[in-house]
Amino acid sequence: MRAMRLVEVNKPLKMMDVEIPKVKGNEVLVKVEAAGVCHSDVHMRQGRVGPLRIVEDLRLRLPITLGHEIAGRVVEVGENVEGFNKGDLVAVNPWEGDGTCYYCKAGEEQMCDRPLWLGISIDGGYAEYVKVTHYKYLYKLKNLTAVEAAPLTCSGITTYRAVREASVDPSKTLVIVGAGGGLGTMAVQIAKAMTGATVIGVDIRDEALEAAKRAGADYVVDGRKNPVQEIKTLTGGKGADAIIDLNNSEKTLSVYPYALAKNGRYVMIGLYGGELKILSPIIIFNWVKFVGSQVGNNMDFLGVLTLAEKGKIKPMVTKMMKLEEANEALDNLENARVTGRQVLVP
Ligand code: NAD
Ligand code: ZN
Repeated sequence: MRAMRLVEVNKPLKMMDVEIPKVKGNEVLVKVEAAGVCHSDVHMRQGRVGPLRIVEDLRLRLPITLGHEIAGRVVEVGENVEGFNKGDLVAVNPWEGDGTCYYCKAGEEQMCDRPLWLGISIDGGYAEYVKVTHYKYLYKLKNLTAVEAAPLTCSGITTYRAVREASVDPSKTLVIVGAGGGLGTMAVQIAKAMTGATVIGVDIRDEALEAAKRAGADYVVDGRKNPVQEIKTLTGGKGADAIIDLNNSEKTLSVYPYALAKNGRYVMIGLYGGELKILSPIIIFNWVKFVGSQVGNNMDFLGVLTLAEKGKIKPMVTKMMKLEEANEALDNLENARVTGRQVLVP
């Protein structure tokens, strides 16, 4: 089968011919119908997450087929698989654990000590077929197409969990930094669907601010102007009760913590790799909570898929491309030419 693989960091992905995986036990073979292109794959191709090197520091093995936002059709099932049959259209939760560590047993399999992350630690969905390690990571689609469902499996699940971590209610204001991108347009929709909070989207491109507005943000704030002042004005001087930062570059980390209200939560999602520098008394006097959050568990997966199946949220797919155009899609993201999500259709 054809697969777009990361062979060497800082080089374009290579189209390669690899064997179609064989499945046994709890495993399922899925024919990929859609694979979303996440900014994390830009970091993977660069070989870095901020200053951390993915091969040496994160001990990832190359070559690897990238792609972790996957939906497609079941084509083969292992002998222990129950409830899934050939032909089923499914979304794949790619944040798989080995099932044996403390975190897996506690239901937070995305925190697994020996993660089996599709497209990051094992082969993913920039390919014609992908092997899923256990059928419990599949969701049978009813109302959604593969293209609509694929982005839910990273940008959806991650921001669903981030919104939960933000812990806001209708009396509160949530700010989303990077609101016009793939995760941002999902975060805005999920926050509106789940919390009743006032949602402010921040971005630094006109078209991204428009996308955040289309996603349902109550207000948008131009990060190129005076965003802290603007957020304070929109909240009657109080500040934001929570901020989800989808960048975490030094540019955002040196600015947005100062837009928080007392007892505010700063939920850190983006992997741009900035350093957080802030005087400790400011954190104490303002009761600031910094929260790191990465992807989500199977409950978050079911939650976000259910929201979309009910029509409450819908990934903003702005471009469909061919498998062999994966590098071009990554270039588009790297150069900030994308709003919403691009999806590869093998
Ligand atoms: P994207 O490129 O689609 O969106 C990023 C958005 O940030 C763009 O709209 C861009 O204009 C905006 N932006 C850039 N600089 C800004 C600034 N200074 N102020 C405000 N906005 C700014 O990327 P994406 O796919 O949405 O991913 C975003 C980040 O989240 C990436 O670093 C990705 O690796 C990371 N990520 C983290 C997790 C996790 O579990 N923690 C999961 C998925 C993705
Ligand atoms: Zn992702």
